[in-house]
Amino acid sequence: MIVKIKDARYVGTLYDNLPDLPEFVFAGRSNVGKSSLINMLVNRKSLVRTSKQPGKTRNVNYFQVDLVDLPSIHMVDLPGYGYAKVPLGMKDSWGRLAEKYFHENKNLQLIILLVDIRRDLKDEEFMVFDLAKRSGCEFLLVATKADKLTRNKQQQRMADIKKLCGMRPVLSSALSRDGIDAVWKTIVEHL
Ligand code: GDP
Repeated sequence: MIVKIKDARYVGTLYDNLPDLPEFVFAGRSNVGKSSLINMLVNRKSLVRTSKQPGKTRNVNYFQVDLVDLPSIHMVDLPGYGYAKVPLGMKDSWGRLAEKYFHENKNLQLIILLVDIRRDLKDEEFMVFDLAKRSGCEFLLVATKADKLTRNKQQQRMADIKKLCGMRPVLSSALSRDGIDAVWKTIVEHL
């Protein structure tokens, strides 16, 4: 691990009056592995609850992460989008929430967008690209659940995803813990 974690804790939501810290936001479809990735990055089993009921958390949750010899940061967990069983209108409310979050967010340093390595990017991912572009923020694309594919298949999917959006993702796996260093490296570059 290229950084050392002093402490990581839940500090509130978008609606709380939190101190200004550099923000790194995690976005992605429900069940993509967002909670698992954040837990893996901060070396905790269940700071962010991994859920068997996707779409349940609808808040924009803030976690303060204190690092050794580096400034503290906020890791921000956007609610997962695109869960088929959420009531009609949820997509719109997700869009509104995301818009509110991205709008004039001066602390936002980097958007970490997660996609399941086995799935192609859909409208929702392109919507996040669009929100990001408008907020002028940089992107990191992470392809999760890499352990589900062989190495050859992983490379093929990386090329497919790059063809779709022009960006080569970082591979991650909550099982093998691949991806930790690459994601932290990018976070540190944006501090
Ligand atoms: P979230 O809804 O995006 O927060 O996704 P979770 O982190 O809760 O993960 C959803 C499901 O996928 C859980 O059953 C996890 O154990 C599983 N999962 C998450 N990441 C990985 C991974 O890298 N590899 C595998 N095989 N399963 C994963």
